[in-house]
Amino acid sequence: MCVCICEILVTLLDTRTVPGELKWAANPAEGGWEEVSIMDEKNIPIRTYQVCNVLEPSQNNWLRTDWIPRSGAQRVYVEVKFTLRDCNSLPGVTGTCKETFNLYYHESNDDKESYIKESSFIKVDTVAADESFTQVDVGDRIMKLNTEVRDVKVTTRKGFYLAFQDVGACIALVSVRVFYKTCPLTVRNLATFPDTVTGADTSSLVEVRGSCVNQSEEREEPKMYCGADGEWLVPIGGCLCKPGYEEEGGACKACSAGFYKSKASDPGCFKCPPHSRSLRDGANVCDCHTGFFRADADPPSMACTQPPSAPQQLISVVNETSVVLEWAPPRRLGGRSDISYSLECLIYSASSNQLCLPCGSDVHFSPDQIGLQTTRVVVSKLRAHTHYSFIVHARNGVSQVSGAGASQSASVSLTTNQAAPSPVSSIQLTDVTRHSLSLAWQQPDRPNGVILEYEVKFYEKDQRERSYRIMRTFLRSVDVAGLNPLTVYVFHVRARTAAGYGEYSAPFEFSTNSDPFPLIGEGVNSAFLLLSVSGVGILLLISAAVFIISRRRSKYSKTKQDAEEEKHLNPGVKIYVDPFTYEDPDQAIHEFAKEIDVTNIHIERVIGIGEFGEVCSGRLRAQGKREIYVAIKSLKAGYSDKQRRDFLSEASIMGQFDHPNIIRLEGVVTRCKPLMIITEYMENGSLDAFLRKHDGQFTVIQLVGMLRGIASGMKYLSDMSYVHRDLAARNILVNSNLVCKVSDFGLSRVLEDDPEAAYTTRIPIRWTAPEAISYRKFTTASDVWSYGIVMWEVVSYGERPYWDMNNQDVIKAIEEGYRLPAPMDCPVVLHQLMLDCWERERADRPSFSQILNMLDKLIRNPGTLRRTGGERYIIHINTYRCKQAYTEITLQEMDRLGIITPSHQDILIASVQQEMLSQMQHMQHSMVPV
Ligand code: AMP
Repeated sequence: MCVCICEILVTLLDTRTVPGELKWAANPAEGGWEEVSIMDEKNIPIRTYQVCNVLEPSQNNWLRTDWIPRSGAQRVYVEVKFTLRDCNSLPGVTGTCKETFNLYYHESNDDKESYIKESSFIKVDTVAADESFTQVDVGDRIMKLNTEVRDVKVTTRKGFYLAFQDVGACIALVSVRVFYKTCPLTVRNLATFPDTVTGADTSSLVEVRGSCVNQSEEREEPKMYCGADGEWLVPIGGCLCKPGYEEEGGACKACSAGFYKSKASDPGCFKCPPHSRSLRDGANVCDCHTGFFRADADPPSMACTQPPSAPQQLISVVNETSVVLEWAPPRRLGGRSDISYSLECLIYSASSNQLCLPCGSDVHFSPDQIGLQTTRVVVSKLRAHTHYSFIVHARNGVSQVSGAGASQSASVSLTTNQAAPSPVSSIQLTDVTRHSLSLAWQQPDRPNGVILEYEVKFYEKDQRERSYRIMRTFLRSVDVAGLNPLTVYVFHVRARTAAGYGEYSAPFEFSTNSDPFPLIGEGVNSAFLLLSVSGVGILLLISAAVFIISRRRSKYSKTKQDAEEEKHLNPGVKIYVDPFTYEDPDQAIHEFAKEIDVTNIHIERVIGIGEFGEVCSGRLRAQGKREIYVAIKSLKAGYSDKQRRDFLSEASIMGQFDHPNIIRLEGVVTRCKPLMIITEYMENGSLDAFLRKHDGQFTVIQLVGMLRGIASGMKYLSDMSYVHRDLAARNILVNSNLVCKVSDFGLSRVLEDDPEAAYTTRIPIRWTAPEAISYRKFTTASDVWSYGIVMWEVVSYGERPYWDMNNQDVIKAIEEGYRLPAPMDCPVVLHQLMLDCWERERADRPSFSQILNMLDKLIRNPGTLRRTGGERYIIHINTYRCKQAYTEITLQEMDRLGIITPSHQDILIASVQQEMLSQMQHMQHSMVPV
């Protein structure tokens, strides 16, 4: 809407509105101006002054108004309405007739000046008529009315007088109006500008400062100019509605509920952002809904948000004294993107038996411990063999303000492995002679176990590491003799624990003392010189030999390790070829096995009795290769063709495999008698005997490590579509590093050959899946069943599955749903895995790949292995007579009662013979029938 800001005229005098006579001062009082009352055009009586002395010369008739108060005006306007008689129309007038009059003013504080002091008046103008009339026709009221306006600056006194001088005209002052102009009160840019009297001069501008309207604040000083004609000009600056208010029709109106305005400069009120509200009018910010928050730095326009939920799927992979923690972002990010993670590290305090101590500052977190943007951290420099807990907190911008708890977290507990010791940090020289140096050092900062010995490596500085010597000591000092005089030697020391050698220390240089003998050319004894030179030569030779041997050794182990790792990484996708598909068994054997020259085999001792004869250990030195320890199986004399074929078939099968958890075939001897199969030597022999020998000596993690190896080997076999059929702890071999390897690849053939096998003693009933027993359905799934039995054997340290039950009872029990109970101290998860392997339906059993994943997960989260059957369970009991009951019982108690528990978790379903119930009732008074 356009509002006209027109000037306002303030009237100081208007003769038309004066009631009664004006009674202005006139000079002369008689015969000059005369007050005459007439009717105006609307028939309202008005007061006029007239004079018409046109016939008399030298007229000087003054008429003066009453005192007019200025009332703050600086320039006043005088509007005179008058009629004037045309001199020509007056008959008989001579040169005395005038057609103008003069307007005067005089400023004064005195409102009661009694007479007209002409000299104090200042002339404003001579006023002439635009229209004059020739005839006064009072009867018809025909008058030519002139209107003239003059403006006068009145600034010096409180008021003023106006005067009209007639010098001989015929004139009637119909009305006189005196007024001044103001710029009217107005609002521009939310600032109010008051009614303002215009300035004194016609060109003057009055600068006016505006004041902000209610609920507004100054943006820039609001100013405007009031022009002489009463119009506002050039608005500058202005105001803005305060937060919570918006402009409407030049005023500031409160934002209604559900809306807000946060800044004065915002263009208007906005709807509350998501998850917030404003209940009252005039909100400058919306309040968050319960459970939602706003961070200090969040703009009010942003939706209210929530702290994130906990990180998910936290996994840890322990590598010696380092651990890699990885997790997935929280399921709920709370509507924000500024998530960060921080890690809390707690160390298990053996003394207080509690997880309470924060890890020290020596633990290293990469990339960082707090403010993490990634979901992976490598924590290193942990103590070996130590239990830690890591808590991963997820935070975002509102975690702090959301109060309690501040962050959601996920945690994982783990135990670090053994690790090699850290390097020796410094070596001190304790004594020096011409030919010897005595050195000492401190134990490494982190020995990570009991230090078994130190290895000192040294060489002449000039020789660099081309030729070095090694000394070993149990002490933290060494005397190195046989050195050259005045020679700088470089020393490195490293420590060894059960976990192996740590890294060498940094190099430390020490010099032997100078030789007292004179130098060549200065009269040296030539015999001594010869001796010394040859001595040094021999020393160098020995050093060189030591160097070469040690280099070869270390290269061997490295190569072997690399090869094993590489193989493991690329497990091959070959398919197993049944050697019995070859018509000529010798063709198969030479395709898959290498013929070994018997002269390269050195048999040492008998280590076992196999199906076809003795098994010996010995050494194999193949052409151009290092000597290795091997096991040698031989086929005893007097064998049949079939026996020869069966014997060699194992080598043909074994020769197709290449995996760190499958026994490796080195080769065969077929060209001379006895026939031999040469395999890698497994120092600890078969797994069942090994476990029985070390009953209770391993940690659960070590046992799971063994199981993992077997599962990995079996996965490899199943990937190659090979079904083992005789998987049992007795057919697993263990080397000196506790690595378990699957062996014995003879049975697959035997069973196939013998249709009665299921009913003979040859079938390993206790290890074999029911479908393989009943209808010879041997598959990888039946190998999985056997693997479950191997798990049970391992966890029970070589116990015989189903103890002394006979085979027929075992078959019957399995048929009726009985399963082996968890061995003592068996983690619940492991027993569950066994039970899964023993699912009646072979399709319900896990694959080896799944088993391997499961075991890897357990190894990464050893905490999950802590729960054993010692906890109390609610047991649901199904009796033979279909009665049901439940009671509380531990797995050990069930074991003692001989209850075989086929189910899992916290609620176990057990089938119990009726007579056992009474025993249980006796033991558990809490048993309640359902
Ligand atoms: P087998 O005929 O494979 O069952 O072997 C009989 C026994 O010889 C096994 O129980 C082991 O104790 C031993 N044996 C077989 N192969 C090896 C090997 N590669 N290393 C060490 N011992 C072995």
